[in-house]
Amino acid sequence: MADIIDGKAVSAAVKEQIKEEIAREGLDIGLAVVIVGDDPASRVYVNNKKKACEFCGIKSYEYALPEDATEEELLELIDTLNGDGKVNGILVQLPLPKQLDEKKIIERISPMKDVDAFHESNVGRIMIGNYAFLPCTPAGCMELIRSTGVEVSGKECVVIGRSNIVGKPMAMLLLHENGTVTVCHSRTKDLAEVCRRADILIAAVGRANFVTADMVKEGAVVIDVGINRLENGKLCGDVKFDEVSEKAGYITPVPGGVGPMTIAMLMKNTVMAKRIQTK
Ligand code: NAD
Repeated sequence: MADIIDGKAVSAAVKEQIKEEIAREGLDIGLAVVIVGDDPASRVYVNNKKKACEFCGIKSYEYALPEDATEEELLELIDTLNGDGKVNGILVQLPLPKQLDEKKIIERISPMKDVDAFHESNVGRIMIGNYAFLPCTPAGCMELIRSTGVEVSGKECVVIGRSNIVGKPMAMLLLHENGTVTVCHSRTKDLAEVCRRADILIAAVGRANFVTADMVKEGAVVIDVGINRLENGKLCGDVKFDEVSEKAGYITPVPGGVGPMTIAMLMKNTVMAKRIQTK
């Protein structure tokens, strides 16, 4: 039976450390959170981010635009926030309504305030290993792996999913830690066979119960990034938890695994943003 990696506990420890650091140094830090429209999942995420800010002693400023907001309106808001000295980090909650070009919006955020690390220049910096911010979800996964005491160096690491937000940066962070990394995606042949090689398996697919026990090596570290809502309203990950937890060495639950870590890493990035802006 696998050890359950407690994302809530690890994230609480990270947030506690951040809170202590902010109080000790008397840092005055602000995070602007922009939400467009009224997607219920986005609203939950934004509220959780605001709560985490409150806990850590970071001021949060919410900007809520209507579902039919124009690109000009949103770009104008970002320009204002880029120039606002009390705002150290800017987060635009994704996904955005269809009329808005996500890429264009992200590129407008000042790279020094891009606490999600989605801006092209921050993505490029991650590639060469010279970065200020790491994307929150992959960085959170790395912290969870670290919490197990399992060394990444030299291990077979398999990432399922190649999105710009999770899969690709995840692969890069594992590579920086000297993992031997394979990235799988919807065109991968013999997916189960590739996954079975993994000492560390990361699932970022977005399909409920996609990873089954036959795809997992005995004793592997299994990190489940997926957040899927079932018909009964319950949340579940990409990993079939009941059977995989019988075989893995370590496993993250959903909820209570990667999700809370993503928010803790956002807090960490916001402190970093303050530091690089006041250097
Ligand atoms: P995405 O849809 O952009 O990417 C999914 C990836 O899965 C794609 O690269 C695709 O190639 C791959 N894929 C799809 N079908 C496949 C198949 N049959 N075999 C192998 N690979 C396949 O999704 P995303 O933004 O990367 O998010 C993935 C999941 O993680 C979602 O459930 C999302 O909600 C969740 N997520 C969670 C957090 C968090 O904080 N926990 C953060 C971001 C995303």
